[in-house]
Amino acid sequence: MSLALESPLSTLDSDLMRIVFVGPPGAGKGTQAQRLKDHLGVPHLSTGEMLREAQRANTPLGREAAQFFEAGKLVPDDVVLGIVVERLADDDCIRGCLFDGFPRTVSQAKALDSLLAEHHMPLDLVVAIQIPDGEVHQRLASRGRIDDAAETVRERLTQYRHSTEPLLDYYRRQSVLRSVDGTGTPDEVFGRIRSIVEAAR
Ligand code: AMP
Repeated sequence: MSLALESPLSTLDSDLMRIVFVGPPGAGKGTQAQRLKDHLGVPHLSTGEMLREAQRANTPLGREAAQFFEAGKLVPDDVVLGIVVERLADDDCIRGCLFDGFPRTVSQAKALDSLLAEHHMPLDLVVAIQIPDGEVHQRLASRGRIDDAAETVRERLTQYRHSTEPLLDYYRRQSVLRSVDGTGTPDEVFGRIRSIVEAAR
């Protein structure tokens, strides 16, 4: 049997990609992932959006998660991993996907590595969007989500520094990390991201 038949996901779909977006709140992860989704034609998985959707649907998971995200805290790993495992099993994810806001902790990253390995899916690229803290506050002040209140944003930034930034080293060691300047217009940032993605293909 040929290698391609034994491992179809990693060998046949070499031009389709699995990409993680990391960055502080307000860095533009969602905006940029949405644009890249249209460019690459692979689904955009935002754990924040999935959690807010569960809250709107008033499911037990949504109610549990809301207690954390409304306070600017991270939702526990097992809750987040549960929704990611379920979503990754959908057919459209076989061809690649863009993770927006997941993983957010090193333990989530390790779980994602195991999950992707189980499915013979490589992680191609991690795009770290960098913006100064001052710009985070400015951008979120105009967005108006319940977790965008100034005090909650400060807590989200603390969580980012403490729990999410260590991911950068984790992925640097795997040689998949690329940093991008997140300042400027969405078009300018997308131009930078597109060059990085094209170079990695
Ligand atoms: P986001 O829309 O990505 O900014 O996420 C909004 C909120 O949902 C975050 O502030 C967290 O409370 C929660 N959240 C989203 N993704 C994760 C994750 N991977 N791990 C833990 N909490 C998350």
